[in-house]
Amino acid sequence: MRGTAVDPARPDSPLLTDRFGRVATDLRVSLTDRCNLRCTYCMPAEGLDWLPKPEVLTDEELARLIGIAVTRLGVTDIRFTGGEPLLRPGLVDVVAATAALAPRPRISMTTNGVSLARHAPALAAAGLDRVNVSLDTLDPIRFRTLTRRDRLGDVFDGMAAARAAGLTPVKVNSVLMRGVNEDEAVPLLRFCLERGYQLRFIEQMPLDPQHGWDRGDMVTAAEILAALRSAFELTPEPGERGGAPAERWLVDGGPAVVGVIASVTRPFCAACDRTRLTADGQVRNCLFSRTETDLRALLRGGASDEEIAERWRGNAWAKAAGHGINEAGFHQPDRPMSAIGG
Ligand code: SAM
Ligand code: SF4
Repeated sequence: MRGTAVDPARPDSPLLTDRFGRVATDLRVSLTDRCNLRCTYCMPAEGLDWLPKPEVLTDEELARLIGIAVTRLGVTDIRFTGGEPLLRPGLVDVVAATAALAPRPRISMTTNGVSLARHAPALAAAGLDRVNVSLDTLDPIRFRTLTRRDRLGDVFDGMAAARAAGLTPVKVNSVLMRGVNEDEAVPLLRFCLERGYQLRFIEQMPLDPQHGWDRGDMVTAAEILAALRSAFELTPEPGERGGAPAERWLVDGGPAVVGVIASVTRPFCAACDRTRLTADGQVRNCLFSRTETDLRALLRGGASDEEIAERWRGNAWAKAAGHGINEAGFHQPDRPMSAIGG
């Protein structure tokens, strides 16, 4: 079944294994590179050069690739993202097709929440298990500056609708930036605790289209924890972290928790279990990969499911040990976060 170019060292396993013993079981699927917000750290005001429609996978193509990942490659978790996944017209159908797979994967979605209130009930009915909503500020004026749109109220409504629809736990992702919203660690946590949402802070990574990331502007995990400890008692959550990117702390003894994803200052690459599919059908083994594997061409060229699976395994096997952000000679990938799928 294998092609001639396969590394003989690669074990004859159906799974997405790599040379460092990791196995990818968590697939991030980008449904579109487009967005209805323009977060300053993610997109310029005028947007980006969107993918031409013919290059974007159709719903059927997407469902086929997700099916291959789940039934042939051992993927157990599917996370839809983008761009803004709620802008994808066929989203409910893609979720339903994913939920119909056997074994059924866990299904989640990362969204800016702007149009979540409208879609939450149908998504829950189609089989979506839970959502992560991105929210960097509680202040409407700041929100408008940060996202270049006046939609904070819609995001709050979206979060509440997700909770009401049972898309729980509703997780909230926040990126803090120096001089912008770094004073909001404590208010964001209070907001989430009061509503039963689970907050996770994410260190800002060098994935912006302007290539303007500056280590000095990044609010570090250590700074975030120090700010939170001014108002709350944090104790490490007992138990195994596994491949989970967030380090979690019990807040005031629990059961509430807060997470910090310290991708830059405390990389978790050694436990990474991710594989990624872009909206135009390219597989990436890391956010920071500089190469991709083109599954769209295979798919449209008439390849069998097993041929596609085998190419995907080859991509996983080539995964680097780490993202290299902290090494001399680090090069930011060409695609920005919104086109990879965050
Ligand atoms: N539009 C959706 C949203 O905002 O949730 C999904 C895509 S967005 C790219 C996914 C997440 O990536 C968001 O939480 C966003 O804040 C985060 N993000 C974007 N650029 C980032 C960067 N350079 N470093 C860290 N996180 C980033
Ligand atoms: Fe859009 Fe998400 Fe990027 Fe903000 S972070 S511009 S919501 S893709």
